[in-house]
Amino acid sequence: MCQNFPDFLYTCDSDIVCHKMLLELKRGKDLVSAARAVMESLDGAFSVTGITGDGDFFAFKDPHGIKPLCAGHSPNEATFAFSSETVSLDMNSFVRDFELEPGELVTVSKDGFKRIQVIKNPREAFCAFEYAYFARPDSRFNGKYVYEIREDFGRNIVKEYPEVVKECDVILSVPETGDDPAMGVHEESGLRWERASRRHRYVTERAFILLNMERYSTIDKKINILDSKVKSKNVIITEDSIVRGDTTTVIIDKLRKAGAKKVYVFVTFPRIIGPCFYGIDMSTYRQLIGSKNNAAEIAKIIGADGVCYQSIEGLVKATGQTKDELCLACITGKYPTPMAQKLADEMKKKFLDGYEEKTRIYELDEPAP
Ligand code: SF4
Repeated sequence: MCQNFPDFLYTCDSDIVCHKMLLELKRGKDLVSAARAVMESLDGAFSVTGITGDGDFFAFKDPHGIKPLCAGHSPNEATFAFSSETVSLDMNSFVRDFELEPGELVTVSKDGFKRIQVIKNPREAFCAFEYAYFARPDSRFNGKYVYEIREDFGRNIVKEYPEVVKECDVILSVPETGDDPAMGVHEESGLRWERASRRHRYVTERAFILLNMERYSTIDKKINILDSKVKSKNVIITEDSIVRGDTTTVIIDKLRKAGAKKVYVFVTFPRIIGPCFYGIDMSTYRQLIGSKNNAAEIAKIIGADGVCYQSIEGLVKATGQTKDELCLACITGKYPTPMAQKLADEMKKKFLDGYEEKTRIYELDEPAP
């Protein structure tokens, strides 16, 4: 417990950010110093918005700019807003102003936004998984809609696996993040995109974050396959990613039962080989099917005739950013921040030595042997 702020419970990472800022402000420092203290002392991803006791509205982003944060204003310029994605500005009829730079603090007064570059980090590291999975397709990054980038991902995979495309009759997508790449696959290959997998409107859980037992039945209930559209056909399904592999396993199983002859999986996000320590729920090597298996082995495990991952180069090019501007840690093993790299290296060594990770790495209640 901190004597300065005894009410803090430290049950979430926001408490740690608040605590650090309040300590600085209590010492008589200004908001810029408080934001700098957070940026200099915390290793990881944070996009922070807040209001001080004096009513100053502010936002800032970690020095690597791992997660998105943007700013906008209402048409009458009376209201200012920050949002992780541009879509929420659009939906509220706000004008999009700018995306925050890594290490930037933005304050708001009646005159508008004031932008202060608190820390200039030579290495940016925007999360590449935002493009493939997290972001809404109707959000924009660097002026481009996410769905357009996902369509390019689909085109790339067609170019990278022409022999598979030649063998197939029809494209299916796993709704909804698979839909936009499916459009790209369809346009590039000329194959028919059949909407033969339909999603249950009222089953809304994300399989990604469910417990193992719940996951299988949720996916089974969530996705329905129209058998007459896939019977006796060689099918391509487009997926945004394969994390544990169970979503894809269930879908392939359903396709086989519906009579599909061959099933190839086109995956827009390259093989995930390592955990993410930047706020995504994939924090151990053990839970990642790609940490120990290559594409051919994964295909065998999930029951596919082939798994065709988009190349890292293709992904990077389609985003319009460079390798040095993106976080690609979970697909390359190279983490943009030192603590994450240290953690990943230590855990990988233990994992390869046979240590069974039981829970999130940063929640271990007993030290690893
Ligand atoms: S490790 Fe992967 S999911 Fe995590 S921030 Fe980096 S790219 Fe995104």
